[in-house]
Amino acid sequence: MRIDKFLSNIGIGSRKQIKQDAKKGHIKINDEVIKDSSKIVDTDTDQVKYKNEIVKYVQYIYLMMNKPSGVVSATEDNFDKTVIDLLNEDDKAYNPFPVGRLDKDTEGLLLITNDGQLAHDLLSPRKHVDKTYYAEVEEEITEKDVKAFAEGVILTNENYKTLPAKLQIIESGYPSLCYVTIKEGKFHQVKRMFNAVSNEVIYLKRLSMGPLKLDEGLQSGEYRHLTDDEVEQLK
Ligand code: URA
Repeated sequence: MRIDKFLSNIGIGSRKQIKQDAKKGHIKINDEVIKDSSKIVDTDTDQVKYKNEIVKYVQYIYLMMNKPSGVVSATEDNFDKTVIDLLNEDDKAYNPFPVGRLDKDTEGLLLITNDGQLAHDLLSPRKHVDKTYYAEVEEEITEKDVKAFAEGVILTNENYKTLPAKLQIIESGYPSLCYVTIKEGKFHQVKRMFNAVSNEVIYLKRLSMGPLKLDEGLQSGEYRHLTDDEVEQLK
């Protein structure tokens, strides 16, 4: 494929713009400056750099991370390490971003992609994608709490009633262990739902999002590419 087509197809700019960029020496194939924008590039084997950044031809990237505590779900942050900082340089070259947010202290499944449409669909409040979390909370959990979650609880500060959520008790005590499945993604939602029933989350880990389940083989901070089947299921 011609290098100008390659770069315009992935949204770098028009072919005319790329022709000018080539003349300015902004384009490299295998670290050699390419001044002729009709030069042919092998999309499988050649390494292309635009303004000294590696660019990949494959349009989309889909990653599953086991997010560790202490990093933020953002692409940039002035103070904290981000989930993008945990990616290798090749994967970063696709400009991926996290789909939704987990709190800094929340662990577990985080989808990272550059597919804006998929991200939008998964986050759309109308789609009601189930998210399941494992939670540890300070106080006992009772059947009354299970019922309250099923009916929806009022989130303080917002005066908002949550959609029905599923609370499954694993063990009730001090602390209690449970699974919570919610269909929304409000700010600090699980923590605030427990606050609404006078409890406090002390540990939170997301286990699944829609059909996507956290790969138990991923250590905290590790990630892997989704399989084609996993991507299909999400769409
Ligand atoms: N609910 C929370 O309170 N925090 C998260 O990170 C995710 C869901």
